[in-house]
Amino acid sequence: MTLKTFKDLNLVEPILKALVTKGYTNPTPIQEKSIPILLNGTDLLGCAQTGTGKTAAFAIPIIQQLYLDEHRNKTHRKIKALIVTPTRELAIQIADNFTEYGENADIRNTVIFGGVKQGAQTNALRRGVDVLVATPGRLLDLMGQGFIKLNDIEYFVLDEADQMLDLGFIHDIKKLLTKLPAKRQSLFFSATMPKSIVELSEKILGKYERVTISPDKPTAEKVEQALYFVSKEDKPKLLVDILRSEDAASTLVFARTKHGADKVVRLLSKAKITAQAIHGNKSQNARQNALSNFKDGKTKVLIATDIAARGIDVSQLELVVNYDLPNISETYVHRIGRTGRAKASGKAISFCDLEERPYLKGIEKLIKQQVPVIKDHPYVDTRKDSEIVGLKKPSQGNRNNKPKSNKKPGQSGNKNVWNRRKPRN
Ligand code: AMP
Repeated sequence: MTLKTFKDLNLVEPILKALVTKGYTNPTPIQEKSIPILLNGTDLLGCAQTGTGKTAAFAIPIIQQLYLDEHRNKTHRKIKALIVTPTRELAIQIADNFTEYGENADIRNTVIFGGVKQGAQTNALRRGVDVLVATPGRLLDLMGQGFIKLNDIEYFVLDEADQMLDLGFIHDIKKLLTKLPAKRQSLFFSATMPKSIVELSEKILGKYERVTISPDKPTAEKVEQALYFVSKEDKPKLLVDILRSEDAASTLVFARTKHGADKVVRLLSKAKITAQAIHGNKSQNARQNALSNFKDGKTKVLIATDIAARGIDVSQLELVVNYDLPNISETYVHRIGRTGRAKASGKAISFCDLEERPYLKGIEKLIKQQVPVIKDHPYVDTRKDSEIVGLKKPSQGNRNNKPKSNKKPGQSGNKNVWNRRKPRN
């Protein structure tokens, strides 16, 4: 079977040229399926994991339709396409993609999000744009102030709908829907499809086609995974040891809370490992700064909370560490999907303390595989589940749990922790 090319998808020359510049040769499955549907003017329900190439899947057809629209006023541009996405980082990422794919098609876009002054954003809006990428709060705010009118919207994209609901944006979205013209093409993307999401999609989409990209084969399969059972107290030492022995060019460490993320930065700094944190309590500038240092390779380790990490797109991300195991199984898939994006493969290492053991069961059920457990490491907590049942305060039962091995970290003679992996019994 020969692979389809972008040319086979009937894309116009300016877009093909931009894709060559980007270095894309073939469309990903979601692009191959969605682009013809969207160029046809049909609504789309896209069920796709992160890293599948879904941004280009919606951006390219929108750019092409705008480019071919003879009535588009290029002197006084009106917002024709609106993309709503839950996080600032994701919004910036999407806008960057529109700029790249649309650079030869005379398409102007801008991005708006909260947490920064609005002046630069309203100036860009005043100059006129064809495409607006926005997070919900700032969008409604600027609409309320009269800077944004949605009367001319022809294309509406709701991105990462499941995350949008998790973040409590449902009322904002419902409010927004009342302001959109009824006649429009609507695109709805979500990584997961619980009932609440299906219901929301029905409010947004007209007659639609559905594109599902391997729901049973999450990114998990492309990523080499490993897990350490470790006590809460030993997590810092284990992290330092792993970062040293893996020596990855780029590592993204996930912490459950903002406070936790800052704590990890401090403990790494004590171990002389430079790291920066990215989370909602940081100013937008600090977040952008941490992100660009990470992308440029100036900082090798970035600590993130789930929300802040949604938009991180680092093509060569080598390693993801789940310092805290997420209690929502889908989050695990989102997190490890940060590595192994597009065609790259990656590694994901997870730490699991006593209290997190039940989460692991949910994760393994979702990904339909067992995460290989590393047993041969000084900081491994060797107690079995059966030994800890009935403990009232499991985390306290761990205090005096010394590492079983006498080997000191880093002196094991085996530089690559990864190779110590053993199959679980
Ligand atoms: P997304 O799922 O939109 O976040 O895209 C995931 C990653 O795949 C991004 O780094 C994109 O730049 C990249 N990508 C998207 N489409 C293609 C393609 N057709 N070929 C190679 N890489 C791609």
